[in-house]
Amino acid sequence: MNATLETNQLRQLDQQHHLHPFTDFRDYAANGGRIVSRAEHIYIYDSDGNKIQDAMSGLWCCSLGYSQDGIKKAVADQLMELPFYNNFFKCSNQPAVELATRLCDMAPANFNKVFFTNSGSEANDTQIKFVHRYYELLGKPSKRLIISRKNAYHGSTIAAASLGGMSTMHEQTQGLDYIRHIEQPYWFELGGDMSPDEFGLWAANELTKKIDELGEDNIAAFIAEPIQGAGGVIIPPDTYWPAVQKILDERDILFISDEVICGFGRTGNLFGFQTYETKPDLITFAKAVTNGYMPLGGSLVSDKVADVLLGHGGEFAHGLTYSGHPASCAAGLATMDVLQNTSILESSANDLAPYFAQALESLVDHPVVGQVRAKGLVAAVELVKDKGSRERLAPESGGAVYTRDRAIENGLMVRQTGDAMIMSPPFVTSTEEVDALVSKLTLALDKTAAFYNVK
Ligand SMILES: *Cc1c(COP(=O)(O)O)cnc(C)c1O
Repeated sequence: MNATLETNQLRQLDQQHHLHPFTDFRDYAANGGRIVSRAEHIYIYDSDGNKIQDAMSGLWCCSLGYSQDGIKKAVADQLMELPFYNNFFKCSNQPAVELATRLCDMAPANFNKVFFTNSGSEANDTQIKFVHRYYELLGKPSKRLIISRKNAYHGSTIAAASLGGMSTMHEQTQGLDYIRHIEQPYWFELGGDMSPDEFGLWAANELTKKIDELGEDNIAAFIAEPIQGAGGVIIPPDTYWPAVQKILDERDILFISDEVICGFGRTGNLFGFQTYETKPDLITFAKAVTNGYMPLGGSLVSDKVADVLLGHGGEFAHGLTYSGHPASCAAGLATMDVLQNTSILESSANDLAPYFAQALESLVDHPVVGQVRAKGLVAAVELVKDKGSRERLAPESGGAVYTRDRAIENGLMVRQTGDAMIMSPPFVTSTEEVDALVSKLTLALDKTAAFYNVK
């Protein structure tokens, strides 16, 4: 069987039988997609023989690239030793114990408990159950409402999608009635004539307003990503997080930091809340905890919450068959080995991130670029038709889809959210590879400017 035939068959069967996540089923069944066959370092290879530089770390998860053999071997070894046993009914396994311990060592001193899930969505579902149980046990059952932000992404189960602030996902589920949304700190889109600092304070005040409107006695938690990832890499103005933290300090409301993207080094520190100096009560993690090689997520629980949860008897009726799966936890441990025992995190934060930010900054003079923003190794490039008015390029056709498709054709895997091109390159990207990323992106922007006739 020759390689091309094999690819065509795979593609055909994929179209016939495989329903893809976040995909237009009808369009995919008609047109199909790309079969990714292997990956190395920061490159993916498809079955047509294309080599594509990955500027997204998979789906924000393969932060250490695709060639971490230590993680692969740890998983293989674990499968040979103990491929599965559950953590229900008073059982545990060594990798789960060790990873729980390691994550607590890495987190701030007041975090000493971990609950494992398979994904970020399930971890956020778990957080909801934790905060509700916390206030029930404290004898404050009226505190049930959870405040989140518009355009947040917290996952795609019904509860996690309700926490998220994406209107298309709410149309599907209606959203859970105890979840409420406030405006997001997206200065470029919403800031109008305000300076970024003024707007940051305005956006923080939305939280105060919502708390006062709903009544503090009815609110259990506020959940937020340090930087909104899937919503378009929304890096809040410098004034935002200090003002939000001040509000949280004054109120009896738990704070859940969703670190599914920002965790494990993406913003230059181990956790995103360390970059912004906030003080969460609960931490959601997933994605990069295993470098994306195995499914794993979870919740880190602070002593404040854990003391209440453990201070009362009664079963916590929640769990997943694969909570604390030995092979996933082995992948997590091997990932932490790389993060803690090599200089990758340090050099990505100190050398690569500034280089990346500066290289991208060169794009601000491009006719279709309205703003470039970067923090650590996560970045967005906002596309506009008119720089002064920030008029968008192509709202009717979904924003930067045209640019994204040209970039992929040029051998660069990037994403778009609305009119923003977004990136989260692997920490192991070299400076030459950053240059290649920027030149491939520039080519896509040139084609975009020509297509939309922007000069
Ligand atoms: C991806 C993501 C999730 C959901 O994680 P899954 O593993 O896809 O369920 C939750 N929160 C944030 C911030 C994410 O980026």
